[in-house]
Amino acid sequence: MATVLDGNKIAAQIRSEVAQEAQKLAATGLRPGLAVILAGHNAASEIYVRNKVKASEQVGIHSEKLTPPDSVTTDELLHMVDELNRRDDIDGILVQLPLPQQVDSKKVLLAVAPEKDVDGFHPVNVGYLSTQRPGLVPCTPAGVIEILKRSQIPIEGRHAVVIGRSDIVGKPVAMLLLNNNATVTVCHSKTRDLPAVAREGDILVAAIGRAGFVTRDFVKPGASVIDVGINKITDRAEFNKFFAGDVAREKSFAEKRWTLVGDVDPRVADVAGALTPVPGGVGPLTIAMLMANTIKACQMRRDTSRRSRS
Ligand code: NAP
Repeated sequence: MATVLDGNKIAAQIRSEVAQEAQKLAATGLRPGLAVILAGHNAASEIYVRNKVKASEQVGIHSEKLTPPDSVTTDELLHMVDELNRRDDIDGILVQLPLPQQVDSKKVLLAVAPEKDVDGFHPVNVGYLSTQRPGLVPCTPAGVIEILKRSQIPIEGRHAVVIGRSDIVGKPVAMLLLNNNATVTVCHSKTRDLPAVAREGDILVAAIGRAGFVTRDFVKPGASVIDVGINKITDRAEFNKFFAGDVAREKSFAEKRWTLVGDVDPRVADVAGALTPVPGGVGPLTIAMLMANTIKACQMRRDTSRRSRS
């Protein structure tokens, strides 16, 4: 059976390191600040933002939530971002997606100052990542690398296969693996004979958005499998397919009528050497890396302004 890579434990380590860094900054009179824009009402976004605000407080980061209404316009959001860009006490700006339909999301994301872009989505930060310059790296991809490194899974010289090429997960994960000297193959919906390509991977990262898509025949025996997917399932037959005989899951499914499954079929554990669970794998790293990015943004911005003054 595969070793379970405990994302909760790794995220707790990172949050504790972040708290120590925040204390060091506090000793110099600085309190890192994170502003989250949550436009309109979206139940899932509200939960994510609540968790981000709570995590910030726990590690000593000042956080603010701005909640414009559903009717907010692109111009109003641009104005809001502009004000946050100018504020010296705000180090990180996070625009929670999705934005209301009438808003030009790309325009709003592009308006965030790259040095405060703690999501790492701004093209300037994408460019820094691909040219290996210091910058802000997207949180979930950075979390994938932390899981590998802190679990002593070698990256250098290994063949890493990434399934998914989105701007927010697949591409930055692939770039980070490449920067860490893996040989990287990126797969997508047009890849031919995907299971055979995936089976080449010593490291296999799944970021697809399809419940249990990666089955045993995608996995090289002993490979490290990182499951980024988060899919909610409510169908009993689907539940039975993945979790038959799992007593704890069965109990929770009976109570809630839903459960989470990744993009990897959990039965891959029979073949893989290591596997991240869902929930409790990559998910907890995302918020931990957001905290780490906010501290990094605070430190980098002060370093740069100190350098430019001298
Ligand atoms: P996305 O933007 O929908 O991208 C999905 C990618 O998967 C695309 O590149 C797509 O290929 C590829 N794909 C879809 N069907 C495929 C198939 N049949 N065969 C091969 N490739 C296929 O999704 P995303 O935003 O990257 O998210 C991926 C997953 O990660 C989702 O489950 C999401 O919920 C989860 N996620 C988790 C976290 C976290 O905190 N843990 C954060 C972000 C996302 P094409 O490009 O060819 O269409």
